[in-house]
This record gives sequence, structure tokens and C-alpha cells, in this order.
Amino acid sequence: MIDLRSDTVTLPSEEMRAAAKDAEVGDDVYGDDPTVNELEVRAAELVGKEAALFVPSGTMGNQIAARVHTDPGHEALVDTEAHVYKWEVGGFAELSNLQIRAFDAGERAAPTPEQVREHAREESLHVAGTGLLCLENTHNARGGVAIPKADIDAAAETAHDLDIPVHLDGARLFNACVALDEDPAAMVEQVDTVMFCLSKGLGAPVGSILAGSEAFVEQAVRVRKQFGGGMRQAGIIAAPGLVALDNVERLADDHENARILADGLDDIPGLSAPTPDTNIVVVDSEGAGLTAEEFVGLCDDVSVLGGTFGEFHTRFTTNLNVSRVEVKEAVERVAKAVQSK
Ligand SMILES: *Cc1c(COP(=O)(O)O)cnc(C)c1O
Repeated sequence: MIDLRSDTVTLPSEEMRAAAKDAEVGDDVYGDDPTVNELEVRAAELVGKEAALFVPSGTMGNQIAARVHTDPGHEALVDTEAHVYKWEVGGFAELSNLQIRAFDAGERAAPTPEQVREHAREESLHVAGTGLLCLENTHNARGGVAIPKADIDAAAETAHDLDIPVHLDGARLFNACVALDEDPAAMVEQVDTVMFCLSKGLGAPVGSILAGSEAFVEQAVRVRKQFGGGMRQAGIIAAPGLVALDNVERLADDHENARILADGLDDIPGLSAPTPDTNIVVVDSEGAGLTAEEFVGLCDDVSVLGGTFGEFHTRFTTNLNVSRVEVKEAVERVAKAVQSK
């Protein structure tokens, strides 16, 4: 089976399992877990922020950020294709009482300064007021687009001019940095807070990081507890997270595999797959007369797993557990399956 459903399907390496087994642990709710503390210090340094917090999931990291940055009734400014809007179960509304103001950031996946200004709303007797701008890099739903630092900076600086804090959903931050050859700290220099996942391309079994100023993280610790994310001997899962931080550079392999996959699929009559920036390949099967559901079914029959990503679009995500040889094999299998349908 060639599992390209997501980069979250990766299994922890022997090194990660060994790190978990040998981890020095303590009660992290008391701040006593040395492994968690080490991970938080290293993670904060990596993204150039004062402090960081280990959280169970990327979703919780984004939700905590929204809660800390805003007041109830504020508007959160997000792209219509943002993960926080499409795939976090309405959390901004339910957990932070936010009204979402969604706008189409377009193919480049980051709002222009003009868009930020157009959609930002100043608080008044009648108007909620914008409490947060949320960006996403890489941008998942737009096909793993790697947004250049200049675009992140421009959006963030405009928001700051309007006194609006900025959170970056960087679930795949390092994919963006590797693709653009950008230093992670430089990439997030202008955003107030950033979340990144250890459990995606970096290959850890569990966990994400939320980073920002010391004052922000102090509040985030309280919200994490309230959201049920205070963990005890969490060093057991933080230790593989530390190992995962060594996997940043190898994301380039996933990107190369994704290009090979996209080029191969694009050559199959009826399919079209633009060359990806990073590890997410989006295939349009309409030309083959196949809905995404039908196409995913055909692929499934030849043990190549993907996920529907719209009526005619399917997502394949290259990852740590899928080799170059398997990617080429996947193309061959899908070609046969589509041609013999
Ligand atoms: C996966 C993902 C998340 C959420 O991470 P989980 O750990 O699955 O909760 C948030 N944002 C983006 C862009 C993602 O791809």
C-alpha cells in the first residue's frame, strides 16, 4: 500500500521510539518535565520567538492563539480556504466567540495589504472590530503553496498598522522554509504567533508547537489547560518531537517526490496536476470523466491512497514513509487504473 493520504500517516522511527522510551519525564502541568521544557526552548529558538508551548495538536495550537489574541465578539480575518475556517469544526466561533470574516486571498494564498485594509473593520458602537488576522503557510487547501516571506511580512505589517495581531498557521511552516530556502525565524519575524506541527512531514507521532512572546505564552498555558491540553509526563511524546526537529532538511525529498508524482500524473491522459511548491499534489480528474470520489476509488483499488479535495480534485501528500521508488510505482499503478477504467 502506498499511503499518500496525508503527511500525518507517518509512523515514528526507531530513533523516536527509543527517545520516547528513554525520555526523562516529570509532571508538565507543574512545569516539571525536562524533555518538554527542552523541546519548548529549542522550538522557540528555531522560530526566533521568546517562548513556545507544546500542544497536543495543530488545531489546539490555532484555537489557543485565537482565544488569547481576541475578545469575544471580535472578527477574525481569514482566507476562505484557511484550515482554521474549513477544517477546525467552527472552533473560532464556539471556543472564542469570534465572527469569521472570510475573504478570497487568491492563488498566491496570502492577502495583499490592500485586502487586509479592505476587510479590516474598526471597532465602534455598531461594528465588531477585527481582533485577529490569521495566515497559513504552506497553504494546504490551495495546494501546499509556499508563501514568500515578503508576502507574509506585507500582510502582517499592514495588520499591525491597524493594531490587529497576526497568527500564522504554520502546520507545514518548514515545508515553506525549505522550498523557499528561507530561515524559519525570518519567515515568522513579522507575525506575533506561529503554530507548527511536529506530527506532519517531520514525522513525530503527536504534537505541535505554539510560539510567541513570553506574555503570550503565559496566557496560552492557561488556555491550554482550559481546553484540556495540560499534559502530565508529556516528555514521552515530546522526546520524539525533539528527534523530529532534525527532519527539517529532509522535507526537500518529499518536495522532489511530489514534483515527480505531479509530473507523472499530469502525463496520464485526462488528469491534470500542476507542479507543486511543496509536498501536496492536487490532481484534477474531470478530464478523465471521473469525480474525485470515483478517482480515489480507482486508486484505492490499486492500493494507492489519496483523499478527495473537492468535486474533481484529489490530494496526494508525499511523506517520510513513501520512497521515491514507491512514488514512481504509484504513478504506474494510477496510469493503468485510469486507462483500464
Ligand atoms: C493539519 C493542519 C492543522 C491541524 O493540525 P492537527 O494536528 O491535525 O490538529 C492546522 N492547519 C493546517 C494548515 C493543517 O494542515
